[in-house]
Amino acid sequence: MSTQSEPRTPFYLIDKRKLLANMAIIDRVRELSGAKALLALKCFATWSVFDLMREHMDGTTSSSLNEVRLGRQRFGGETHAYSVAWADHEVDEAVSYADKIIFNSIQQLERFAGNASGITRGLRLNPGISSSTFDLADPARPFSRLGEWDADKVLNVINKITGFMIHNNCENSDFSLFDHMLHQIEERFGELLTRVEWVSLGGGIHFTGDNYPLEEFCARLKSFSEKFGVQVYLEPGEASITRSTTLEVTVLDTLHNGKDLAIVDSSIEAHMLDLLIYRESAKIAPNTGDNEIMVCGKSCLAGDVFGTFRFPEPLKVGDRISINDAGGYTMVKKNWFNGVAMPAIAIRELDGSIRTVREFGYSDYESSLS
Ligand SMILES: *Cc1c(COP(=O)(O)O)cnc(C)c1O
Repeated sequence: MSTQSEPRTPFYLIDKRKLLANMAIIDRVRELSGAKALLALKCFATWSVFDLMREHMDGTTSSSLNEVRLGRQRFGGETHAYSVAWADHEVDEAVSYADKIIFNSIQQLERFAGNASGITRGLRLNPGISSSTFDLADPARPFSRLGEWDADKVLNVINKITGFMIHNNCENSDFSLFDHMLHQIEERFGELLTRVEWVSLGGGIHFTGDNYPLEEFCARLKSFSEKFGVQVYLEPGEASITRSTTLEVTVLDTLHNGKDLAIVDSSIEAHMLDLLIYRESAKIAPNTGDNEIMVCGKSCLAGDVFGTFRFPEPLKVGDRISINDAGGYTMVKKNWFNGVAMPAIAIRELDGSIRTVREFGYSDYESSLS
């Protein structure tokens, strides 16, 4: 392994071989189920690996004008444009990049159907059920603004659309729960589903995880597709890139304040924000050994803690740590809090060599403000 072009820590390291393992599963799902797979850019938009991903995915889906533009210009293939709400000044440009535009509400559909008359139009449905146990991430939470609920109202505008998007899963690794919720969707929206040509079932299905029953999943997608006569789309974000990326950090200092502590050259708030939002610990492997050490970030936030892990030896200044599963909702969310050095982005190529594709410096920090 060449480490010559490795950037200085902190950096995100995307391992193409691991990414390819997920892509192989996506290929299998496409083949067995007939579903198409679109990368959800809101989870992962690091376009330097799109050359590899586009061989195995049909295109992208987006949640804003910037994302749909990136999808069109950097990924290609089928480009779905969705937004919780389009602004008047955005919609024509979004339509210029997209193959399909999916409106979140009937009111948006009616306002902008004319602007989008040249492309395929769809509407987001909200089935009122979700696999999420975290209110913040539950699209079916009370008073949710994400999609239309009332089948009768949707029936009135059915001639303006040819498909639906339904996104109600969230890191769901339980196939039977997926199956159960899809049955509820069939019951609730069955009549609508027979009237359209395509249905996107969104993201949040953890089908690239260990022991996921892929054959059953694919058979279920296929029977759904045949029952309603629709092309099924999946929009995997996390499932596409899970376990492909690490955040590489270096220990800057150690302390003992009742526990052994190590401070690293990164920050959970700035570089892995979702762990903080969802109150999860980072992952470090193998996490074994006699030394229990709390790994902490270098921002001044008191709770800037990656987690408590086991190490074979005490950590010392200069030690390198790899934080696992750092690909999803990280690079798209990184921020300049505390002015902490922004992690570079590097790729481990299939031959094992490491290529640095982006480094950030003071001018990036300065130009992010005015
Ligand atoms: C967030 C989101 C996705 C991707 O979700 P993952 O959990 O990362 O797979 C797909 N589609 C829509 C509409 C989303 O909001």
